[in-house]
Amino acid sequence: MSITMVTTTVPLRPALALVAHDQKKDDMVRFAVAHADRLSAYDLFATGTTGARIAEALPNLPITRLKSGPLGGDQQIGALIAEERVSGLIFFVDPLTPMPHDVDVKALTRLAELYNIPMALNRATAELVLANHGALKRPI
Ligand code: PGA
Repeated sequence: MSITMVTTTVPLRPALALVAHDQKKDDMVRFAVAHADRLSAYDLFATGTTGARIAEALPNLPITRLKSGPLGGDQQIGALIAEERVSGLIFFVDPLTPMPHDVDVKALTRLAELYNIPMALNRATAELVLANHGALKRPI
């Protein structure tokens, strides 16, 4: 008698985190709509309101919504980066409005720097990151 083992390899998909401050959410939605095809190649994470806006515009694009940024969502994304589960961060920041959760924003960008993942803080850089998507590292 012999036993046959069948194994299936499920390729790991790189993950991207998407965050936009309130004044930049329309811009993030336009960016997501313009690049929906390419974004669908990633496991997507977003802070709560950013994720809701993207899901509203692109209901067929799977996206994991975390807490709203001011309520801990930025820190949740930071934790995913520290666990090396996120390959890139697209974070449309509002440079003109003071934020109650500024320390969380700093902590998030610090972790992206520390773990050396591509981090786009405006749309121009986000376009470059997606255009070079092959450079995005896979999760461990
Ligand atoms: P939000 O969080 O997507 O829940 O608005 C973003 C932020 O302000 O950090």
